[in-house]
This record gives sequence, structure tokens and C-alpha cells, in this order.
Amino acid sequence: MEDNKFKTSISSLENNPKTNLLGLTKAEIKSLLNKINLPNFRASQIWNWIYRSGTIDFNEMTNISKELRSLLSKNFNIWRPKISSTHHSQDGTIKWLLKLDDGNEVETVWIPDEERGTLCISSQVGCTLTCKFCHTGTQRLVRNLSSSEIVGQVMLAMDQLKDWPSASENRLLTSIVLMGMGEPLFNYDNVKKAIEIIMDHSGISLSRRRITLSTSGIVPEIKKCGDDLGVNLAISLHATNDNLRNELVPINKKYDIKQLLDAVRSYARISNSRRVTWEYVMLKGVNDTAQDAKNLVKLIKGIPSKINLIPFNEWPCSPYECSEEDSINNFAKIIMKAGYASPIRTPRGRDVMAACGQLKSLSIKQKN
Ligand code: SAH
Ligand code: SF4
Repeated sequence: MEDNKFKTSISSLENNPKTNLLGLTKAEIKSLLNKINLPNFRASQIWNWIYRSGTIDFNEMTNISKELRSLLSKNFNIWRPKISSTHHSQDGTIKWLLKLDDGNEVETVWIPDEERGTLCISSQVGCTLTCKFCHTGTQRLVRNLSSSEIVGQVMLAMDQLKDWPSASENRLLTSIVLMGMGEPLFNYDNVKKAIEIIMDHSGISLSRRRITLSTSGIVPEIKKCGDDLGVNLAISLHATNDNLRNELVPINKKYDIKQLLDAVRSYARISNSRRVTWEYVMLKGVNDTAQDAKNLVKLIKGIPSKINLIPFNEWPCSPYECSEEDSINNFAKIIMKAGYASPIRTPRGRDVMAACGQLKSLSIKQKN
């Protein structure tokens, strides 16, 4: 197909609302362009501009003719979420509150470190699950984010950090964690599409080893995620018996610890014994005894694992307190003695409510 044929079908597009190209797969962009008689290589060129250079203006796509650029700008756009507010923590963490087109807000958190820069992204507005220690779970309004809104968080962070072109040797954004608002496996299709876009070699090109998906334990989707994506898996465990886990992480009533462990074992097999991360929030007097640590070691026996101990981050009226430092250190010691890495996660961005489990859109909070 030649470019000059595209003119014949311009009229077919006119008067339609602009289509957002962000969040579409390369195949979807190809098929859109094919509809106006544009050849496949144009999709690859546009993909490179979007995901390699971070371009949002078709007029900057200099390897495309002026006439075609003008057609593209009339009919398509390359979306970004808008920033509602930016919060800088003293420790370098930045929290962006983002406004989506329907007025909903989500949070994205940038956590710079000495060797790497991690972006924590959201997968839903709010969360339908109601883990008792989590602020996001108290938010009433919930909807899934589109693939465009998920990828958009990464694009916006890269804009803000001036981290274009992507995939450079000294890139700032080196890893992504799906640990923001929402349960990613309850929005599996959009999350999958977004991750595939983020991993694409001719674009942002972050490898599966640099992406971690955190889940409260949606068992059927854990298997799918292993088959389709093979990213790092983090499981929010928080308790070592069903009684307590039912209370802390109510989805456990549907998928209990045994089912969860089975799913994780097969995930570990699929991903070639890559380590699974267990997240364990330290709640004073609830799950933080030496016996709990021993039970945890027993439970995960045989699974290549790392245990992230997360000091509980308090939020207004939260029903728990964070464990004492001594209990956390003791807990970590027992796990390490059993041969597992057991980093205690230093809370980041607590002063701007950007730490784990503190996220909740301010706009919605005010309505409550
Ligand atoms: N819904 C997913 C991902 C988002 S939550 C999940 O639950 O895994 C990201 C992590 O923050 C989870 O491990 C969650 O249990 C933890 N978390 C939630 N509230 C917290 C709090 N108040 N303090 C510390 N960690 C918390
Ligand atoms: Fe949802 Fe995760 Fe919070 Fe539970 S911990 S309410 S699954 S965001």
C-alpha cells in the first residue's frame, strides 16, 4: 500500500472524534492505519515516536510527510493524564495525583534510589477489595483503568523526569511496580495490554524482570499472568493462617491460603524459579510474633522466595498500629536464618501519604 492512497479515505475519518493511540497495541495501530490505506511501516514509525521519543505532537514526526502529519493530527491524539497536584517528599519520592478525562483521580508514585528508579502505578480507581489495613480499600468509587490510563502514568512520569528517549543506557526509570491503587488482577486484560506495551523492545522496553505485579491473591488470574506475562510476582500475604487472613485480606475467603500457595508454586515453575516476593505488613499485636515468623517460613517452604516486611503505614483513623522496631527486626532475623532474603521496606514518601496503602484520591476523600 502506498501513502498516496491514504487521500482517498480521508473523508471516511472526518467528523469522527479523535482516536487516542496511546494504549493501543502495535497491531491495533496498524489496523487503524490500514483502514485509511496506510502501510504497516507507518505504524512502526508512529510507535517509535510515541514510545521511544515520547512525542505527543504528530507535527514533530519528521519522517512522515506534512500532509500525512496533518491528517494524523486531525484524527488521532496521543493522550496523557493531567496532573492535579504534585507532592514532593523529603526523601525524594514524588507523588502525582492525576486527573483522568472523566474527573476521577489516581495516584502514581516515583521512588528514586541509588541504583534504580521505581515507578509505582495504579491499576484501578479505588479498589473493590477491602483489606482492613489499606486506605485505598476504603475508597467508595471504583473503576478499572484503561490500558491507555495505565501506560499514561508511565509516559507522564517519563515526561516529568525528562527520561526520553526511552531505553537509554542511563535511563532514570528502571523498574515498575503495580502496587498503587487497585487490584491489578481484577483488571487483567487492560493490565496485560499495558504491560505488553511497556515491555515492547522498540518502545519503553522494560523487561519482565523489571516489572513487578502485586496481588492480594486472585488465584485464577495468577496462572494466566504466569502464562502470558511472566513478570515478577508479589503476593500480599500478611497472615499465615486462614482465620487471620480472612479478616485482613477478605478475598482469602474465596481463595484460601492453600489455593494461593498452589498457584504461586506453579507460577514459580513457569518463571524458571524466579523468586516470588511475599509482602507482609507488620501490624502490632496482630501478625508480628516469632511464632508468626516461623509459620511463615514453614508455609513458603520449597518456593524460591523473598519476604518484604512492610512496616504498617498509618492513615487517618486506621484500625492498626505499626509493630515495634524490635518485633520487626526479630521477625526478619527468623526468616533470614531460614535462608530467605527479608528486607524491611523503608517507608518512602510517608510525609506526603505516598507510602504503601496510604493512597486514596484526595478528591474522593473530601466527598466522603
Ligand atoms: N492490590 C494489590 C496491589 C496494591 S497494594 C495488593 O494488594 O497486592 C500494594 C501493597 O501495599 C500490598 O502489599 C498491600 O498489602 C500493601 N499495603 C496496603 N496498605 C498498607 C498499609 N497501610 N501499610 C503498609 N502496606 C500496605
Ligand atoms: Fe485493594 Fe490491595 Fe488495598 Fe487490598 S491491599 S484493598 S487488594 S489495594
